[in-house]
Amino acid sequence: MSYAGLIEATGRVNDFLNAGSVLSWDARTMMPKAGAETRAKQLATLAVAARNLLCSDEMKRLLEGAETEVAGKPDSSADVRIVAQVREAIEYHERIPTEMLHRKTELGAAAHEVWAEAREKADFSIFAPALTTMVNINREMAQAIGFEDHPYDALMYRFEPGTTTAGLSTLFARLRDGIIPLVRAIADAEKPRSDFLFRDYPVDAQMQFALQMAKRIGYDTDRGRLDTTVHPFEVSFTRNDVRITTRVATDYMPMSLFGALHEAGHAMYEQGVDPAYTRTPLATDLISLYAVGGVSFGAHESQSRLWENHVGRSRAFWSNHMGDIKAAYPGLLDDVTDEEFYRAVNRSEPSFIRVEADELTYDFHIMLRAELEAKMVDGSLEVAELPEAWNAAMKNYLGVDVPNDAQGVLQDVHWSSGQIGTFCNYTIGNIMAAQLFDTATSENLGIQTALDGANYAPLRDWLTDSVAQHGRRYTRDELLVNATGRALDPEPYIAHLTTKFTDIYDLS
Ligand code: ZN
Repeated sequence: MSYAGLIEATGRVNDFLNAGSVLSWDARTMMPKAGAETRAKQLATLAVAARNLLCSDEMKRLLEGAETEVAGKPDSSADVRIVAQVREAIEYHERIPTEMLHRKTELGAAAHEVWAEAREKADFSIFAPALTTMVNINREMAQAIGFEDHPYDALMYRFEPGTTTAGLSTLFARLRDGIIPLVRAIADAEKPRSDFLFRDYPVDAQMQFALQMAKRIGYDTDRGRLDTTVHPFEVSFTRNDVRITTRVATDYMPMSLFGALHEAGHAMYEQGVDPAYTRTPLATDLISLYAVGGVSFGAHESQSRLWENHVGRSRAFWSNHMGDIKAAYPGLLDDVTDEEFYRAVNRSEPSFIRVEADELTYDFHIMLRAELEAKMVDGSLEVAELPEAWNAAMKNYLGVDVPNDAQGVLQDVHWSSGQIGTFCNYTIGNIMAAQLFDTATSENLGIQTALDGANYAPLRDWLTDSVAQHGRRYTRDELLVNATGRALDPEPYIAHLTTKFTDIYDLS
């Protein structure tokens, strides 16, 4: 009885969170700007309501009963996992005082304006006091949440449980050893032709083609839709309503296409979650308070990167779909071969802007941020020293000179809202994508043959079986071990980048 009651009660938490997601989707796609202030309050109210419902006496009573009911069942059974996750989430939220959360939310609202002004004037000193306060709140939160080795571990726990600062440092060192020689070699190599990507591509045609290709790889539009936005995202309100967005630049066509493929990858993860998990904790992240079925933000990113980079930026993809893209943009690509197109959408050039970074250089933007965040959080780097440390790391990793703070340390919005500890998800996603793709295509020869013939169903089915259907039942590393035989392993990723870029730039 208690277990059934717990499922219904956590279902109501899921309802609050999904209602918040609808408001958030609307805010980022349809809402007039003037609605922003009230909308932020509505979202905060729903998040607090969800948290309070989760931590209510009624929930605890049901949980205790449910723990007795499932006692003795196998550790991996869904009901045992659900009960354990609810217990873990309640304990997590109760460790963070509500007063501290309020302070962080209020500071975030104020800090955003200060950050925007600092970026506008390219002057970090304007933002430094607000960032110092934000770092201090995050340090307080880390103490409240608790950690074994490093306070940054506590902050990463919310989005990427199990990740440690020490583990990241080992992972990053291996990536640097593998990727920096490629970046250096490409700097001296001849650039592929890319002029045709910058022609005048009509907005409507871009959205049509983006949707066509998202559907082509398997995004189910009977349970989704595509809209335009400034910063592309995917959001699900259960597996049967999973929406994606992309952005369009008339003078740079790949943005809309690869944005849509990326978000479709996220969406197929949510659309593939076992229907039996709908409204349960196995489709609700009760720690980060998002109604998602993905097991971690890194795992989610693995699905988007896999479809975007391993499929959408593959040679096979463009030898199969060059005719489609030429038909979508009549007359605009007549002078371009599929090989030229493939090379153009894979060209690599170090940039100081993270969101414009290519597949090969992206991880350096993440390493730099995660390393600086960890140092700010443990106190070994003062906020005042941040711009200098940032610029030095950019030079060291990518060989670029940052022209000013706006294009350097002030470029991302994350720190102004107090988000510290989230960047590592992107690199974990890249590593996990390569590991999954490598296993899928090397152990099951039919999958690569199908991809060569523009048949995406076998890969999609493999990913649904290995990852998506399980929702949040298994941890990220359990999923990886079950699917690939080992935990997070950077080698397939380094091998993928080495093979691809050595070939494209004739480096051998
Ligand atoms: Zn993503």
